Amino acid sequence: MQIKEVNCITALSKSNLPGLDYSLNPYRGCLHNCAYCYVPNVLRIKRDAWGRFVDIKKNIPKVLSNELRNKKRGVIAISTVTDPYQPLEKKYKITRYCLEQLLIYDFPICLQTKSKLIERDLDIISKFSNAEIMFSIGTLNDNERKLLEPYASTIKERLDTLKISSEIGIKTSIFFGPIYPTISSENLPKIIDTFKENGAKEIMIDKFNLKPGIKENIEKKIVSNKLFQEKFANSNSMYILQKEKLYEIGKKTNIKIVDAF
Ligand code: SF4
Repeated sequence: MQIKEVNCITALSKSNLPGLDYSLNPYRGCLHNCAYCYVPNVLRIKRDAWGRFVDIKKNIPKVLSNELRNKKRGVIAISTVTDPYQPLEKKYKITRYCLEQLLIYDFPICLQTKSKLIERDLDIISKFSNAEIMFSIGTLNDNERKLLEPYASTIKERLDTLKISSEIGIKTSIFFGPIYPTISSENLPKIIDTFKENGAKEIMIDKFNLKPGIKENIEKKIVSNKLFQEKFANSNSMYILQKEKLYEIGKKTNIKIVDAF
């Protein structure tokens, strides 16, 4: 494991993702090391190296503070190529220090995470005029979650944190993706109910993005689970059915379902 403190030159990057103007990534690398993560493909990092290093952008709160003085107002995504609440954040608090700077200018923020650690920062996040927390959850089956996202928070921890965030008035949503192929259409209404009961106001859906190397990486992790293997082999056709059902549930239950890409 290689953990390095580094200095960055810029903090905010322009984002082309829908509804987002900038991205802010306090770390380069992510110890959650999800098997389906496509960030290594985006950043051209060898898959074998992903999850084994993190660059901590020690000076990013200061760089951000300078940039915010002249930046046009826009929604900032935290983060797009790392998890801002991966385990190292507990010690380094880089995301927290960035939030402190952002709050001075009260820029709109959208945080996306798979970690319960975000609960620590609800005191700051709740002070923004416009803040959203999006929890990423692709399944409610924690045994299957452990195969693909072993180092992220458990599903229960994510749902509990979602509920706490929603109860204090923060806008909360779910990034339901990649939707695990083991979920049948019949099980989807119950899953959406669970998200709603825990405070999700909107659900963004996504499939596995099988960029080069990802399919093989996932197959290695699910070798012990025959059903998962079978379903994963047909994950694209499974997603078409899941998506159709999700739109139907959305209409019936009055919750907004949005396709991620
Ligand atoms: S939490 Fe996000 S950035 Fe981190 S490894 Fe998982 S998918 Fe990649």
